Amino acid sequence: MDIKYLKGVGEKRADAFKKIGINKLEDFLKFIPRSYINKILIKDIQKYNDTNVIVSGRIIDIAYPGKVNHPLRIFLNDGTGSTEIPIFGRSEFRSKQFQLDDEFAFWGKITEGFYTTRFQLSYRDHLKINKNIKSENDFLKFPLIPVYELQGALKKTWIKPLLLSKIVYHAFLTLIESNSIIETIPASVLTQGNYISKKDAIIKINFPKDFEDVETARRRLAFEELFYLELILALKKRNIKKEQKGISFTKSIDKLIESFNSTLDFELTQAQKRVMNEIFKDMNSNHVMNRLLQGDVGSGKTIVSLFAMLVSVENGYQSALMCPTELLAEQHFKTVSEFIQKFNNVSGSNHKVVLLVGGQKKKFREELLYDIKNGKTHFIVGTHALIQEKVEFNNLGFVVIDEQHKFGVMQRAKLKEKGFNPDVLVMTATPIPRTLSLTYYGDLDVSVIDELPKNRKKIKTVLRTENDKPKIFEFVKDEIKKGRQVYIVYPLIDESEKLDLKSAEENYIKLKEGIFKNYNIGMVHGRILSYEKDEQMQAFKEGKIEILVSTTVIEVGIDIPNATIMIVEEAQRFGLSQLHQLRGRVGRGAEQSYCILVGKNLDEISRKRLNILCATTDGFKIAEEDLKIRGPGEFFGIRQSGILNFSCTDLNKDQDILMTARSIAFKMIEDDPHLRKPENEVVKKEFFRNYKDSLYLMKIA
Ligand code: ADP
Ligand code: MG
Repeated sequence: MDIKYLKGVGEKRADAFKKIGINKLEDFLKFIPRSYINKILIKDIQKYNDTNVIVSGRIIDIAYPGKVNHPLRIFLNDGTGSTEIPIFGRSEFRSKQFQLDDEFAFWGKITEGFYTTRFQLSYRDHLKINKNIKSENDFLKFPLIPVYELQGALKKTWIKPLLLSKIVYHAFLTLIESNSIIETIPASVLTQGNYISKKDAIIKINFPKDFEDVETARRRLAFEELFYLELILALKKRNIKKEQKGISFTKSIDKLIESFNSTLDFELTQAQKRVMNEIFKDMNSNHVMNRLLQGDVGSGKTIVSLFAMLVSVENGYQSALMCPTELLAEQHFKTVSEFIQKFNNVSGSNHKVVLLVGGQKKKFREELLYDIKNGKTHFIVGTHALIQEKVEFNNLGFVVIDEQHKFGVMQRAKLKEKGFNPDVLVMTATPIPRTLSLTYYGDLDVSVIDELPKNRKKIKTVLRTENDKPKIFEFVKDEIKKGRQVYIVYPLIDESEKLDLKSAEENYIKLKEGIFKNYNIGMVHGRILSYEKDEQMQAFKEGKIEILVSTTVIEVGIDIPNATIMIVEEAQRFGLSQLHQLRGRVGRGAEQSYCILVGKNLDEISRKRLNILCATTDGFKIAEEDLKIRGPGEFFGIRQSGILNFSCTDLNKDQDILMTARSIAFKMIEDDPHLRKPENEVVKKEFFRNYKDSLYLMKIA
């Protein structure tokens, strides 16, 4: 049936629905109520004071406004009592709209009466009831009326919330009457997880008798979302493991480990050693490695990845390391170069390291590209410049992606394509709550460095205000006297780079000419030229600069152990995980470090958030809190992944559902990778209907 024939729709509104992707009746299944409003009898009105309700009845009186600013007052009777509904504005139009004896449903908030009745309804929306076709407004008979989000094109039409509820009701009614709500989960799985049928879930979530109904239905629909997600992940993982023959790095590492260790000037932690083993096992085998390396800031991931890159190079392949910022790429380039130089001396090898970033001189760049293509260079460190078309590798065998959460999924894939099934290690210091890592990184194997190097002291974190600035600056001077160094970070205001620049730049000048005029103070931000950035960072690293003013460009990865104070201005503007990252720039050496969060006009919630950071340095705890406060999309910085846009799933409370969905889905794919068994037919069909993009996974599974 064309949706234009649905009650309340018609040609024009059907077009609006089409614009938001609702083309056929079945598409209405995507509508999930945003909230529910009590449908009440007017006699009970006082019980619902100060809440939103819906009432329906007959207009028994209308009082027209005497003055311009006064409302039109409608008196509505539903057989149990009457109430007053004042409606402000457009009074001439309104008086035509509402006629005596007409029947209406009204949605509004109950407030203490101002005019004649004790309680009245402050108007939000209305719907005219056709007296002759009562069944048309059957949806008003439910105790809870679903309210749906008016998305995109719908907002520009005459579709209002109550009308939308009515349209959706009729769509569902038709679907149910024609038996067209198709089951998507095999019966055995429903029983196993104790979930209700799709049809029941749709009825219960849209027309519940109470909130228990809503929750039962929501859990079932969340299960469906997570189940299909996990099926896709299971298929992906299987494909990676099964079909792609990867490189096996077979050269013995006994000697390598010896020279590696003698090049280091510290001893590896147990966790680092364990993870290096896990990685090597994968590299040694002939399936393609896809591994996520998680470890809190400062846990020493770089050196682990360097070991793995070295394994690849020692086997005659190239290794690439991709970073999200130039600053970090430059730093890693230095670390890797210095290390490899020492390593070459110890082991008598001749490995070469290059840096590939944007903005390098054309001729120089061409030489770099030539050497990469011809295999003259072995370690290639860079930004996303690495994944540009022109870059060709000789034999890329190993790929590391640092601070993976700053990249999109596509970028990971692109770098990988530069080689022939290279092994991939992605690293992140944003500790990912388990619920998220299972969904977002579900097709990866995970290694965790859960131990910090021994020499670390706990960073002291405090929350201060603008008024404390003089004291803070005195403290800064004391620390500098002891030979330490300081970061001062300013926020990105309104995501606008210009403003961002202004706040850091202005404050830089203020500090340089004011309180710190006898000190060496430098600045880096996103728009400074790369050689200048380089100079500043180098000067800071060598201790020639004592105070570095910056924006969030230093957020990830930067490693300068002598810096012991991190001051974050307007800390309330940052996400908790971001602050944790920034804090991770200090506390990297043996000295006591400090993180000073300066808050401005803090409200209750901001204060609470920032206090979490003062109370713990455990990145996982902080991430969990951050996730709760901001939701998964924000958590990853950008809404980069369609995968996390659930309608019914709430990752904060659906951990149990996720675990069930995951184990059932993975088992199903293991037993029946092409979904050929009759009992899995339901799933296969659903793939054809709603997950077409992922069908290819099944064919090669
Ligand atoms: P992250 O995991 O945040 O990327 P890095 O790899 O930058 O951390 O390491 C942080 C600092 O700790 C670096 O200066 C590094 O040289 C040092 N480091 C790494 N491993 C150890 C260790 N086992 N003992 C002491 N210092 C270490
Ligand atoms: Mg790092």
